[in-house]
Amino acid sequence: TEACLSAIEGAGALNAFVHKTPDLALERARAADARLAQGDAPAMCGLPIGIKDLFCTEGVASQAASRILQGFRPEYESSVSAKLRDAGAVMLGKLNMDEFAMGSSNETSVYGNAVNPWKVDTRDLTPGGSSGGSAAAVAADLCLAATGTDTGGSIRQPAAFTGTVGIKPTYGRCSRWGIVAFASSLDQAGPMTKTVRDAAIMLEAMCGHDPKDSTSADLPVPDFEAMLTGDIRGKTIGIPREYRIDGMPEEIAALWDRGADMLRDAGAKIVEISLPHTKYALPAYYVIAPAEASSNLARYDGVRYGHRASLAAGDGITEMYEKTRAEGFGPEVQRRVMIGTYVLSAGFYDAYYNRARKVRTLIKRDFETVFADGVDAILTPATPSAAFGLGEMANADPVQMYLNDVFTVTVNLAGLPGISVPAGLDSAGLPLGLQLIGRPWEEGDLLNTAHVLE
Ligand code: GLN
Repeated sequence: TEACLSAIEGAGALNAFVHKTPDLALERARAADARLAQGDAPAMCGLPIGIKDLFCTEGVASQAASRILQGFRPEYESSVSAKLRDAGAVMLGKLNMDEFAMGSSNETSVYGNAVNPWKVDTRDLTPGGSSGGSAAAVAADLCLAATGTDTGGSIRQPAAFTGTVGIKPTYGRCSRWGIVAFASSLDQAGPMTKTVRDAAIMLEAMCGHDPKDSTSADLPVPDFEAMLTGDIRGKTIGIPREYRIDGMPEEIAALWDRGADMLRDAGAKIVEISLPHTKYALPAYYVIAPAEASSNLARYDGVRYGHRASLAAGDGITEMYEKTRAEGFGPEVQRRVMIGTYVLSAGFYDAYYNRARKVRTLIKRDFETVFADGVDAILTPATPSAAFGLGEMANADPVQMYLNDVFTVTVNLAGLPGISVPAGLDSAGLPLGLQLIGRPWEEGDLLNTAHVLE
């Protein structure tokens, strides 16, 4: 813990930790030492980790990287971070992210962007988003592991951009209670780590049924680490032809082939599959996610939490709401609230929101069909490129940024587990990730297959 705290002090330029809790960390580390001395060592005992700013942490600033939550210190701990704490993990502080987890580059954060520890020459690159601070902190050895959340790729894309491992479990595996809601039917927490083994250990500590989240599944939690045998003989791995998108860089295509070869060499059968509705996933996601966000973010009204605008004489409650929300939300969040409100409005509900929900069902069925045909897991690239330069996309058309999520959003729409695992470097020396998508609740098998790719 002390080594991590001093590494964090030395890595201010990465802007990964945005609220540091050194005193609390040392107190918890001492408590972990005492437990270890008594021979009572739970799985995460004494392991220093970072927590994404989206998780409510008792008495510690939890701002979802937004101005509107400035000064908010929850009186409660999210279920996932409470489980990690009870398993002995030591929280070092809160990690940078895109505002309300909306973004793919960490550039929508009120704290300013986190920086990828990987560089090309001296050029600063994005660590990805929205869990960019988590990815940067793990990659730069500021902590042993971190929590992330993934609504459309926010664990897997930053993992791919930083050469780390990130798994989004099946929807319902981890409790969402106490995690600031973005799009409730898509959001899931998951671990971001240096190795697949670490991900298995940490995921086990994070998941399990929680009566406080009605969508959390009442299923036993497997011993994921014990499932890392490296034996994938007889497994069938699908390669979806629709993911071979136009303009895919040669290096990404080559990496994908190499991943398939590695799995074949380990005894898996590689088959080409079709997921015909893939091309509708991104548009459906960018209707459903903003729709849910516009509803979830209605609670930030200047009364209950955080920031309230100063008012002029004669201002009433409407002006208070308007000024607070105009000042408190950044441009990307405002864009999502407006899109979401529009697609849910009376005249457009059927044309947009209901249509997107139908498309979502078709995407889910595509996966069900290939799994019913005997496919155990699906291999794809995690991202369409390696980490890009800071400012490079933030100043472009927002749709350019949304295109980053082309390989990751299908998994959230279908509620499936997906993992990004580092799979080599590109010609500029930057890490690239491969994604594996698994059957619902089969994170153990998925981790085992990913372990073969490490
Ligand atoms: N980049 C996607 C978005 O901006 C995904 C974000 C996420 O998974 N939280 O919505």
